[in-house]
Amino acid sequence: MTDCVFCRIVARQTAADIEYEDEHVMAFKDIYPKAPVHLLIVPKRHIASIAELKDADAEVIGRCFLAARRLGEAKGFGEKGYRISVNTGPEGGQVVYHVHFHFTAGRQRGHGA
Ligand code: AMP
Ligand code: ZN
Repeated sequence: MTDCVFCRIVARQTAADIEYEDEHVMAFKDIYPKAPVHLLIVPKRHIASIAELKDADAEVIGRCFLAARRLGEAKGFGEKGYRISVNTGPEGGQVVYHVHFHFTAGRQRGHGA
């Protein structure tokens, strides 16, 4: 069994609250939500981090953003808006080394980090 928690969620070996799935992308609720809506959007294929992206990953990364748009619309945030963020590497605060896009919504955000 893989030791990557998000690969295990994709393979349904670890439980998660799945909100979206297509052939290439999955989105599920963050287990420790930091906003009223906090989802993680992941490529199904294991990519450790943005720092390891290859040209061949361009399409699946684009599909993650398309999933974000769909989730935003489906959850009623298409107009109000939402934030997508990606932590990368130790000083970027990355804890899980399987690329994931934090989708947060439901409260007013300012500029900046
Ligand atoms: P990051 O710091 O960007 O690597 O964020 C990792 C995120 O994954 C954190 O917000 C965690 O709360 C979340 N997380 C870790 N394990 C799980 C899990 N099993 N199911 C859902 N979210 C998780
Ligand atoms: Zn993985």
